[in-house]
Amino acid sequence: MSHKLYKNLIGGEWVASRTGKTFLNINPANSDDIVGEFQSSSAADIDNAVAAAAEAWKSWRLVPAPKRAEILYKTGEILTQRKEQYARDMTREMGKVLAETRGDVQEAIDTAYYMAGEGRRLFGQTTPSELKSKFAMSVRMPVGVCGMIAPWNFPMAIPSWKLFPALVCGNTCVIKPAEDTPLSTYNLVQCLVDAGLPAGVVNIVTGFGPDAGAPIVSHPGVRAVSFTGSSEVGRIVGQTAAGNFKPCSLEMGGKNAMIVLDDAHLDLAVEGALWGAFGTTGQRCTATSRIILHKKIAAEFTEKLVARADALKVGDGLDESVQVGPQVNQQQIETSTRYCEIAKKEGAKLLTGGSALEDGTYDKGHFFAPTVFASVKPGMRIAQEEVFGPVVSLIECADFDEALDIANGIDYGLSTALYSRDVNLAFRAMRDLEAGITYINAPTIGAEVHLPFGGVKHTGNGHREGGTGALDFYTTWKSVYFDYSDKLQRAQIDTGE
Ligand code: NAD
Repeated sequence: MSHKLYKNLIGGEWVASRTGKTFLNINPANSDDIVGEFQSSSAADIDNAVAAAAEAWKSWRLVPAPKRAEILYKTGEILTQRKEQYARDMTREMGKVLAETRGDVQEAIDTAYYMAGEGRRLFGQTTPSELKSKFAMSVRMPVGVCGMIAPWNFPMAIPSWKLFPALVCGNTCVIKPAEDTPLSTYNLVQCLVDAGLPAGVVNIVTGFGPDAGAPIVSHPGVRAVSFTGSSEVGRIVGQTAAGNFKPCSLEMGGKNAMIVLDDAHLDLAVEGALWGAFGTTGQRCTATSRIILHKKIAAEFTEKLVARADALKVGDGLDESVQVGPQVNQQQIETSTRYCEIAKKEGAKLLTGGSALEDGTYDKGHFFAPTVFASVKPGMRIAQEEVFGPVVSLIECADFDEALDIANGIDYGLSTALYSRDVNLAFRAMRDLEAGITYINAPTIGAEVHLPFGGVKHTGNGHREGGTGALDFYTTWKSVYFDYSDKLQRAQIDTGE
């Protein structure tokens, strides 16, 4: 089957990597299906991309923000027209089912419209000066060339969270998509180009992490770095950026807990658990991977959840009847398999799943059975470490306080959920769960783009994507003092008389 060759976009030109090397993007549901061939880039390509972005920044920073926003608005309209095609492309390269890839494209559309609106806000502050005839204000300034490194699980939504706020704020960008999912970022960038984005404002360079990602972080011309991915790589990225005093936004892993108390609407909680744990084949940073069950309802909940997990249809996400797609690659299958073995050795009880699906229908893809472990203790590795697959652990608790301790007793702090009808406990959960996101009576997944997204502890380093938090990362504050008194006035010294 013939496939298309994709090039890097640098300075408005589609160019081959200077390495002369390429790699194949293969459908995780069907190894016969080659989605495309992409450039395997290196530091020399990043040098070119950063130079193009630096050149473009000279004029882009001066384009009025409402005009920059018009391009984003148009990008949202183009994405809307192409939504179905892009969702299909994304299912082919990443695996998740069509309903979810449509959602991923929709998230980029939502972000485009939201950030287009910011073009007429980007509010700063005016404030009285302590001196007479002096005007004081703070204004948001763009940062410059921003480097962006993305993961594969939301291959269009996450790049849009990075690119759109950066652009409306007046920055130029060099983005490296994950090696498993470059096409969706291409599609996104193509819409920006078609909407009239000037050459060099966004540059896309594909390739592998150490070859094409690391040079973005260390490049002296890159003024800020936005990274989403594993905590392991995030640590390297953060340390490199810190060495150059470079602002660096890190969005990393999770081990997200859902607490189900004995007064919960049980069927609703089972429904939420099923979606939270097995949606996106468990490959969301916010996936529900621990369910903390009050002992009074544990048996009934477990029975219902296992029955529902067993009934899930696993297969090619392009088939509308499929509910769980493949994992993104063989490495993820190996990780899920390894953690299932570890869990069994630690004494957890496998209730269903626990292995890859490899027979006839599954032999050309990376499929893993939806997996439920019971009798999991909070300290077990299966309850502490991110699996990033369709594997969920059930942990019992005696009461809400114990549930809180278990939920908080991990290194990560991304998303949490409580199922209960007790309003007092719901408010305590909102206050006491150590996480960037808490849901009440909804699963741990389901972020909306106009709210801050990110986590605490090892999940992040304090920045937020989404919401106005993104504007804080992609701008730097300038305080401006304008003296129209025609004389020297000294702050803190002169009285203003
Ligand atoms: P990953 O860390 O393996 O890769 C992420 C990106 O970093 C890829 O583009 C990769 O090429 C690049 N990279 C790898 N090594 C690098 C290096 N040395 N220098 C610079 N870049 C490098 O993660 P992944 O497997 O693509 O994604 C899964 C992880 O992402 C999970 O841990 C998940 O929880 C996390 N994630 C977090 C969020 C969030 O917002 N908190 C969202 C989605 C995914």
